[in-house]
Amino acid sequence: MKTFDIAFIGAGASALMASSFIENQSIALIESSSKIAPKIKISGGGKCNFTNKSVASENYLGDREFINDVFKIFGQKELLDFFTKQGLKFEFRSNGKYFCKNSSDEIINIFKKLTSHCNFFLNHKVEKVEFDKNFIIKTDKQTFKAKKVVVSSGGLSFKSLGASDIGYEIAKSFGHNIIHPSPALVGFTLQKEQFWMKNLSGISINIALHVENKCFKENLLFAHKGISGPAVLPASLYWKKGIIKIDFLPNIKISELLSKKSKKQISSVLPLPKRFIKEYLKSICLDDTKVDKLKVEDIEKLERLNHYKFSPAGNFGYSKAEVTRGGVSSDEINHLNFESIIKKDLYFIGEVLDITGELGGYNFQWAFSSGVVMAKSIRGNM
Ligand SMILES: Cc1cc2nc3c(=O)[nH]c(=O)nc-3n(C[C@H](O)[C@H](O)[C@H](O)COP(=O)(O)OP(=O)(O)OC[C@H]3O[C@@H](n4cnc5c(N)ncnc54)[C@H](O)[C@@H]3O)c2cc1C
Repeated sequence: MKTFDIAFIGAGASALMASSFIENQSIALIESSSKIAPKIKISGGGKCNFTNKSVASENYLGDREFINDVFKIFGQKELLDFFTKQGLKFEFRSNGKYFCKNSSDEIINIFKKLTSHCNFFLNHKVEKVEFDKNFIIKTDKQTFKAKKVVVSSGGLSFKSLGASDIGYEIAKSFGHNIIHPSPALVGFTLQKEQFWMKNLSGISINIALHVENKCFKENLLFAHKGISGPAVLPASLYWKKGIIKIDFLPNIKISELLSKKSKKQISSVLPLPKRFIKEYLKSICLDDTKVDKLKVEDIEKLERLNHYKFSPAGNFGYSKAEVTRGGVSSDEINHLNFESIIKKDLYFIGEVLDITGELGGYNFQWAFSSGVVMAKSIRGNM
């Protein structure tokens, strides 16, 4: 049986970037899906939001120092330079997001070209990795041997796109700790008291959402199961269990609006969708009366829309979550080269680690940056 110099577990974003940077080595990329990089393909509506205008450790949950060190070597600028050099056409959209101009296939094609020296084993599901002089990688089809193993198998989100817990299982089998994984960048489900929001499915409004010490000013989308959208998804990264606060009219003080003793009805004075007002009024048992007829306690109930506090019941789960929060503890990873400090020649890159970015291209940036930094160190050592 041939012994590869390096075997990657999974051929997604981080593995493709890393193997593009390693030459003159025999490389195996072992992937359970029938195609490489299934997540790059479908992300960003098929145009892959691959980075952001401002990439900093503040946009991530995880070890800030580690993240900063990695971005100092290969950050947003280096990623843009890399793709520009490879001829990728990209465009800049709201909230600093960079997308492919045409299709995420262009990124995949760049990687196909840059990894032509590698051996791809698609439709091979890795089941176990052991060590006996070399690493022994057991898949559902055949067994591989490698001198170095890079675990680049991502998180648990979107099983339909190949996600599995193999990365955590390999890590555990070599003595690593796993920071409890949970779905993130995902919508929230609601408690009974907020069920009025369920009747608003399809409506989207601009809000400010406060969670922990973060605030996200973006759209909230009312969904069938709860709330979602660009303000809610990043908030889910920081939410543990407990209260979140939503300002449904971020730039307007409701108390001032209502103090003007207007003869108009509430729904005509508050600049929110009529359907929203109707359901909210129902939930606080108030009729759509004229503003000058409102009692002090009614005004207080309406003012709550500026600081609506509640605890979500939970979230929509891994089938809807863009990423997995938690993972292989970065405390046991060498921050200079992503090698395990427990097992020599074993590496972990990308989302499998306990470093997770906000919505907006931060997770691909991390996957690509971790891949490059790891690859550069391997190149230097061989
Ligand atoms: C729907 C969706 C949209 C997203 N959109 C964006 C976006 O626009 N911008 C952004 O920054 N991030 C986005 N993300 C997150 C981003 O895709 C991931 O953070 C990133 O792909 C992680 O890279 P990775 O290399 O660590 O893992 P992945 O890219 O997930 O690659 C892991 C690979 O390992 C394979 N694998 C898993 N288990 C096994 C096994 N047992 N045997 C063999 N192979 C295995 C998988 O099939 C997969 O190909 C999105 C995620 C989802 C689910």
